[in-house]
This record gives sequence, structure tokens and C-alpha cells, in this order.
Amino acid sequence: MSGKGQKSSSVKKGCLKILIFGVLGLLSLLLVTLAALLAVLNHYSRGLPDVGKLRYYEPSETTRIYAADGTLIATLFRENRTWTPLEKISPNMVKAVLAIEDRRFYDHHGVDPIGVARAAYASYKGGDKQGASTITMQLARNLFLTPKRTIDRKIKEAILAMQIEKRFTKQEILELYLNQIYFGAGAHGVQAASSTYFNKKAKDLNIVEASLLAGLPQAPTEYSPLVNKEASQERQKLVLQSMKSEGYISQAEYQAALEALPKMKIANQDRKEFQLLKYPYFTSFVIKDLYRRYDEDLLYRGGLRVYTTVDLKLQKKCEDLLKQRIKAEGNIFNFHQGAIVVLENGTGYIRAMVGGVGWSDKSQFNRAWQARRQPGSSFKLFVYATALEAGMTPESVVPDSPITYNMGPGEPAYSPQNSDGRFLGAVPLKVALQHSRNVVAVRMAMIVGIDRVIDYAYRMGVREKLEPVVSLPLGACDISPLEMATAYSVVANGGIRIDPSPISVIKDSEGNIVEDNRFPHYEEVLAESTAFYLTDMLENAAKNGTGYASYIDGRRCAGKTGTTSSHRDIWFCGFTPQYTAAVWVGNDDFTQMYGVFGGDVCAPLWKAVMMAALEGKPNLRWKVRKGPTLPCLMCTTSHKRAGPNCPKVYREYYKPGQLPGIYCDSHGARPLPGSGIAAPRPTGPARPTGPASPTAPVDERPGEIPTPVEVPLGEGPLPLPEPVADPGGASGGEVIPAPEPIPVEIPMEAPPEPAPVPIEVPPPDPGPAGPEM
Ligand SMILES: [Zn+2]
Repeated sequence: MSGKGQKSSSVKKGCLKILIFGVLGLLSLLLVTLAALLAVLNHYSRGLPDVGKLRYYEPSETTRIYAADGTLIATLFRENRTWTPLEKISPNMVKAVLAIEDRRFYDHHGVDPIGVARAAYASYKGGDKQGASTITMQLARNLFLTPKRTIDRKIKEAILAMQIEKRFTKQEILELYLNQIYFGAGAHGVQAASSTYFNKKAKDLNIVEASLLAGLPQAPTEYSPLVNKEASQERQKLVLQSMKSEGYISQAEYQAALEALPKMKIANQDRKEFQLLKYPYFTSFVIKDLYRRYDEDLLYRGGLRVYTTVDLKLQKKCEDLLKQRIKAEGNIFNFHQGAIVVLENGTGYIRAMVGGVGWSDKSQFNRAWQARRQPGSSFKLFVYATALEAGMTPESVVPDSPITYNMGPGEPAYSPQNSDGRFLGAVPLKVALQHSRNVVAVRMAMIVGIDRVIDYAYRMGVREKLEPVVSLPLGACDISPLEMATAYSVVANGGIRIDPSPISVIKDSEGNIVEDNRFPHYEEVLAESTAFYLTDMLENAAKNGTGYASYIDGRRCAGKTGTTSSHRDIWFCGFTPQYTAAVWVGNDDFTQMYGVFGGDVCAPLWKAVMMAALEGKPNLRWKVRKGPTLPCLMCTTSHKRAGPNCPKVYREYYKPGQLPGIYCDSHGARPLPGSGIAAPRPTGPARPTGPASPTAPVDERPGEIPTPVEVPLGEGPLPLPEPVADPGGASGGEVIPAPEPIPVEIPMEAPPEPAPVPIEVPPPDPGPAGPEM
């Protein structure tokens, strides 16, 4: 018995041994497997993002751009996305998504083995296309990783998904998912998708609509109703089927949905980024301005709220006015483009900006700020501003008489001409500006210094590079309408430059103010009395001069025309107490217009623009004051009154009649004759001394070659004042002699001057001047 017992016991022992070894072996195998698994997990966990970030995750949001009255005029998005809390998403949508994407969502912990097995089986059988990825895994993929499909990535997604499940509730995960997932057509998140496809809010989605959207994330293009209607509907039916089989909808609801499905309306999707822009000339400028100062990522995903300055009613009106003008007169005078800029005085707000007609995907050139055109006589603003700053007054007299500037050996001399080919003799500045006398402008610029005129132009808002050429005072340069409007607004603002802005306030997605332009930076660039005189002179020019067609009866307005001699550019720039506007008309390819002047087209157009801007606005007086003193530029080195070549100057104020009579003689220039700066510069043989500097008057410095210039024309059929005496008129037949000089007040500090004696008789040919009129 015992033997049998022993035997059986030894067998038992052997069995036990085997069992123990087997268990041990299995255990160790398990341990090894576990260790390997841990090692794998450890390996893939390295470098994964922290899912804790999800809590502070800033969802990508569309930047919105509003008009001054709060109307939405543009949106900026790469990913069209608007964050929506779960309770504001239709339950139909939640059910549809769970049914088709992750029916065991509430049962798994991020990874669903049953789902994987079923997907594998279904895939093997070629049936149900439910993806193996849970909603949590899709979220992980969407948030942290670039879309790349490798085994490696699948493992990482699974690890992240489990981490997400640990930190967030199911409801939070669902909300993140519904706001993150891509639904095609540029729409990220269910809110953007329902707006894109159905033009409604996510909370209002019905069962049919929800079934369409829920089917999209799997293959947004393949199932898109915009791409393949049939495939889209098949997919929709599958989603509805899943919803029914999961018990999310009843049989009756299912039947009703199937019947409603073919009648479902899809919103018009034929739109591109720029077609979302209303008023593209203005909004594209805003976007360019934003680009200049903000990170692109912030603009497209930061959900900024940009409150702009555009007055939509005025913007629309200006667009219409330009269109109408071009339609009515474009073919008659041969012009096909134009630009309008309206600035609000005091704030620098751009209230309207029209950069042409016919904005399209292919034609996005914005002439209001991108066109560089010759300003013609409207440039004279800078010459007169500089002269007044230097101590001249509107009554200061400058001769309108022939003068020739020697351009150096081998170069033709330059003799500025007036558009009527006549010379009026000694005229006060006010009259010279009123009738846009070219010779006076050139002479004055030579008296005060071309460089100084350029300096004032820059200070007043010109950004383009200006060359110190003798014809610059007549507009030999390229400037945009926005720059001209800025410069004229300096006068309207009493000498203060306020840089124009299309934006008043920018807020971030949480409502914090990021940028505030409601209190713009002021810079005083002209003395207030200079602005006062300029206002007076420009008002006279608008009322009685070349710009008379701009004059608004019963309102204060001031401005200046501009026309180039070959009729390539015509302008009117001016202001009322509330607004400043610049109007330009011409052709993109610089084709000539047919004998048209700024006073003919631009002045009446400016008037219409300004009347629209002023509609319903009070009738104000000018704000600028005359001031008891006159500005006078002084040399920084010698502290004497500045000559045209003094490199650095400062502004000093004097009572009229007390301006210093002694000029600086330390900077290459000989003292001006007499003591009044208003005195014309006598021309003489080339001065032997003095270094050639860009500011040296070109009549005395060899080697200066004037750039080809469009000479401003007189712009208007107005009767000119009677020509006055040109006492020194020993010149050619162009000078019209008259018996008596008109009585003009000569500034006290300037003793009466003998009239200039031109050294060279102007050639009978008007030279570089334009056609006479
Ligand atoms: Zn000096």
C-alpha cells in the first residue's frame, strides 16, 4: 500500500513540482512581459505633452473685426472655430457623435479593447466602418500631435488618452472633443460646423443635421455634402441607424429623419477668405495694419475683437460716389481709377477708405495707401507751411517773375513756368496759393531751403522718400492719398499731427483691452499760428481759387487742387472743422487723361464726400487760433535767424514786426539780402564758395539734375488777378508789364526790396513746364 502510496505521492510531488515550476515560469513570464510593457510605456511616455495643459487650454478662436457701429465686417481664421460649452450644444449632436464614433464612451478608460476587437472584426468582414479610436484618443491626437498614422503614434495616443481620462470627467472630454474636431470646409468644432453648413447655432441642430455633422470627422472631404452628396447621405443614414440601434432615437424619430434627409438645406459654401470681408478696401487695410504689429498666430487663433473706426454709411457712400464719378466721366476724360480717404480731425480715425473700384480676388490693389502718385500743386502745402514757419505771413510778397536755375555744365537750365504762361509780378503768398502760382512756390522753396520743405513734409506725415530737386515744390515726388490726407489734417488739427488709425480698440478673447487708440499720440509739428494762416489761405483757395468747386455753402472748408501737366494725376485735398479728405483720380498704368483738372473732377467729388460726412453734423467754426506771435526758424548753431542751408533749426516765436533781421552766416549761405526772408533770392553767377550740399539752391550749384517732373497746372478757368508790375522785368516777352504794383503789406522786418533781376532770360519755349492753358 505504502509503495503504491509512495509512488502516488512521488507522482503527486512531481506534479506539484511541475505545477510550481509552471506557475513560477508563468509568473516570471508575466513579470517579464509586464516589465517589457512598462518599458514600452515608459519609452513612449517620454516627451509626451502634459495633459494637465488641457485645463488651461486656450481654444483657437476666430478674430472678429467690427465697424464703428459694431457691425461685424470681417473674420480672420485659419481654423474656423468658436468655443461652445457642452450645455449649448444640441443633445442630438452629442447622441449622434457617441453613436457613430464611440458607443462605449462612458464605459471605457480612454482605450476601448472591445471597440478595437470589434473594429478589427468589422474591418475583416468589410462592414461597419466605426473607427477603433475612442473619442478620447481622437482628442489626444487632435490636441497634441500632428496627424501622422503610425503604430508608434497609435501607442502614444493610447497613453495620452488614458492620462486624459484620469484628469477629466467624461463631460469635460466630450466638450473638448466637440470643440476641437474638424468637420471639413475650414470648420473646427461643432459651432463653426453648424454655422458653416446650416447657418445656425450648435444648440439648434436637429436630428438630421446632427447626423450629417457627426458623420463628417471620419472623412471630412469624402463625406462632405459639398463634395459628394450621395456618399454624404449614405453616411448620414448609417449615423441615424447607429443612433436608433443604441436607443438614442425612437423608431418614429428614425423614420421621420430618413424622410427629412433629402430635403435638408445646406448653406451656401462658395466662399473664400476675402469674400468674407465686407468693405474690402478698408478691412484689408485693417488686416495689414494688424499684421504689422501682431503675431500671425494670435491674429488667426487668438479670438481678438478688433473695433475699427470705419463709418459704414460714409464708407458705402464714398464707394458709390467714386463708382458714379468714374461711370459718368471716366470715358469722357479717360480715367478709370480713384481713391478716397476720410480722416476724422482730432482722433486720426479713418472713417472711410476707398482704394479704387472693382475689388476682386485678382484685383486687390488699394490705391488709397498703396498707390504712389505725383501730388502736383497739392504738394505746395508743404512749401507754404515751411515758409510760414520761417516767419513769412500770407501777406509776404514773393515775385511771380521769370527765373532760371542753372543746372550745371551741359545741363539745360530750369525755368519754372506758370500754367498760364504769364507772370503776375510781386504777389502776396495768399494770392499765389489761391491761383496756384508755380514760380512763386519754386522761389519760396529756394528761399527757405528745399531740405527744410522735405523735413516739414515728413513731419506732417509723408512717408515716401523725397528727393531735394528744384521741381519738388511743384510735386515732383510720389505720395499716397493716405499720406496727403494725414498732412492736410495737421493743418485742420491746429499744427498737431495725429497718425491715422483704422482701429480704435482691440480686446483679447477674454475682453481685456490689448490696444487703445482712443487717446492718440499728438505731435506738434507746426505752430498754431502757421496752421491758422494755412487754414485761412486754403479756405481762400477753396472758395475763390482753383478749388472753388469744392466749396460747401454755409460750411467752413479749406483745400487745394493738384493736377500734373501731362494730366496723369488729379487731386483735391482739404478739410472742414470735423474731417479731412484726400481724393485722387487717374489710371493705374499712368495713361494720360484728356485735359482734365483737379478742380473739375476731384473738387466736386471731394465736396460730395464731405457733405456725406457732415450730414447731420453741426456747423462748426475753425478751432485754430491766430496766436499773438509768429514762428521763426532759428539756426541751432548760431542762434541767428536760419538761412536755407542751416542744417539744424528750432522754432522761436516773435511778435509780428519783431522778427530778427540778422540771418545766420555760418552755414555756407551768404546772408540773404535785406533782412526779410520774404525777399527773393537774387540770382547771380554761380557762387564760387560754399560746399555743394543737397540743399544748395540748384541755380547756384553745378551738377544738379532735376528729375523729370509733372508740372502742376493751374486747375481752373478762374480769372486771375490783374498782372502787377514786375519792376525788374528786363526779362523776355513772357513778362507782362503793368503800370502799378498792387498795394501789399510787406512784413515790417523786411524793407522794400528791389525786384529780382533774372540773370537769364527764359527761353521762348516754356521748357519743362506743361502745356499752357
Ligand atoms: Zn546756421
